[in-house]
Parts: sequence; C-alpha cells; structure tokens
Amino acid sequence: MRANDWGGSTGRRRRLTGAAERRQFEARGGEAPPNLFMSKNIFEKIIAREIPADIVYEDELVLAFRDINPMAPTHVLIVPKKSIARLSEAGAEDEKLLGHLLLKAGEVARQLGLDKGGYRLVINNGKDGGESVPHLHCHLLGGRSLAWPPG
Ligand code: AMP
Repeated sequence: MRANDWGGSTGRRRRLTGAAERRQFEARGGEAPPNLFMSKNIFEKIIAREIPADIVYEDELVLAFRDINPMAPTHVLIVPKKSIARLSEAGAEDEKLLGHLLLKAGEVARQLGLDKGGYRLVINNGKDGGESVPHLHCHLLGGRSLAWPPG
C-alpha cells in the first residue's frame, strides 16, 4: 500500500487520532493508515523537535541535520517535512518537493564547503537499498574520497 493512497500522511487525516476515528475509516471500507495511529518515526520526532538533532538547514519544506552515525567527515540527512516513507511512495504531487529537496541538498553541500572536493547524494529505498528509517531522506556525504560502487 502506497503512503499516498492515504492522500499522504499530512493534512486533515493527520489530525484524526484514536479508536473512534479508526472506526470511521473502517466504516468507510478503508483501513486506517498505519502511520496515522502509530507513534512517530525518529525523523518525524526530529522535525517536531521532540528529540534533538544538529540542524544545519531548515525551511518550510525540508530539514537538514547531521547523521548521528557519520560515514564521512560530513554526513548530513536532508528530509522532507511531509511524511513520505520512501522515494517509491512519492507521487506526481511530490514533484516540486523532490526538486526542492535536491536543490537544497546542493545548497547545503555548498554551505558546508563540499563544492570544491565534491560530494555524494544517496537515497536508500527499501530493504535491498539499505533503508533503516521509513521517512524519505537524502544522505549528503563528503569530506573524503568515496569508493564506487557502494557495498
Ligand atoms: P537509511 O539507512 O538510509 O534509512 O539512513 C538512516 C540514517 O539515519 C542512518 O545513517 C542513521 O545513522 C541516521 N539516524 C538514525 N537516527 C538518527 C538521529 N536520531 N539523528 C540523526 N541521524 C540518525
């Protein structure tokens, strides 16, 4: 089930919580969106400022913060504030957001001085891609020469 089958996990539905609302979904023949009634994932908590992060950039659409377990001298995650589990669950309605995410990743790279030496952007999607947090994020890695291909 694509996250967007729920109309995304933001907006009006996002505010519905609890058993009564779950029954409303079920009465309409729908299944309650998993993300709606479950606790926030770690990146949603960072976006909501419920847990701390070393934030390097923020605007109304995206947040960029340093990875807690850096794989390079500079390792930043750029995440959309909208809850999209992974790239494969983004839809046509996310076109502008995804463009914004990439442009901002480039801007953050510049801001952190990675322009000269170069850098890598990585999006891990699903199990085989090595995704561990189900909230779309782009890794920005730089500050050393990176091997190719990745493991
Ligand atoms: P992925 O494996 O592509 O899903 O990437 C998830 C990344 O999130 C990993 O590189 C983790 O080190 C990073 N991460 C997990 N928890 C935190 C956190 N609280 N703050 C910053 N980065 C985190």
